[in-house]
Amino acid sequence: MSEKPLRPVGLIGGMSWQSTQSYYAHINQGISARLGGNHSAPLWMYSFDFAEIEALQEAGQWALAAQVMADIARRLEDAGAQALLICTNTMHKLGDAVQNATTIPLLHIVDATASTILASKAQNSLLLATRYTMTQDFYRAPLGQILARDNRSVMVPPIADQEKIHTIIYDELCRGIIGDDSRKIYQEIIDRAATEFGCDSVILGCTEIGLLIGQHDTNLQVFDTTALHCDMAIDIICS
Ligand code: GLU
Repeated sequence: MSEKPLRPVGLIGGMSWQSTQSYYAHINQGISARLGGNHSAPLWMYSFDFAEIEALQEAGQWALAAQVMADIARRLEDAGAQALLICTNTMHKLGDAVQNATTIPLLHIVDATASTILASKAQNSLLLATRYTMTQDFYRAPLGQILARDNRSVMVPPIADQEKIHTIIYDELCRGIIGDDSRKIYQEIIDRAATEFGCDSVILGCTEIGLLIGQHDTNLQVFDTTALHCDMAIDIICS
């Protein structure tokens, strides 16, 4: 037995369930590695029907999506969660709505990512993510601001490459389709960013991308937001 009980954390998941599996495994593996024995993570989880979320995203109905997410956040708090994770980078677009709906902290995926990059030697990171995350301000702007304070930068691939990345996420990775051809496309995009733009690292800024590529697939340093976000949760659970 640990000296004090572990703190339950709430996962807002199902976006997609492919990456929520990664969260569940990674957090539990982390607790097991830290505490040993039969320890595992106390978790509350809600798993959305991702088709409904995807439809709201495509229709630009972010206000409605925010209400839905806020409602789930409140339920997880009522159930006993002491902190929350939104298990997707994209839906951190609604992070403020989720945080404002509850009195417990939202563990922000940008904070987890930024602090790890700052602790590394990476200077110029390539962000691979959904079109929303790569092009809208909610993610790149705060991440870029934190990194800029230490003279680091983050950039996104050219638009044609963004579309390929986005389509593979929604049509393949979120459906559990992990293909060599798609891995090659991602590797080519990363290689081009290294040679043409001097990127020295790559941020897997979508929680499914780690299912397709990892550190062994590229010479650039890889920051997998899923793993970094889970590490943040493990710290809170044990705190
Ligand atoms: N899980 C993905 C992300 O991290 C994409 C799916 C979604 O739109 O939430 O952005």
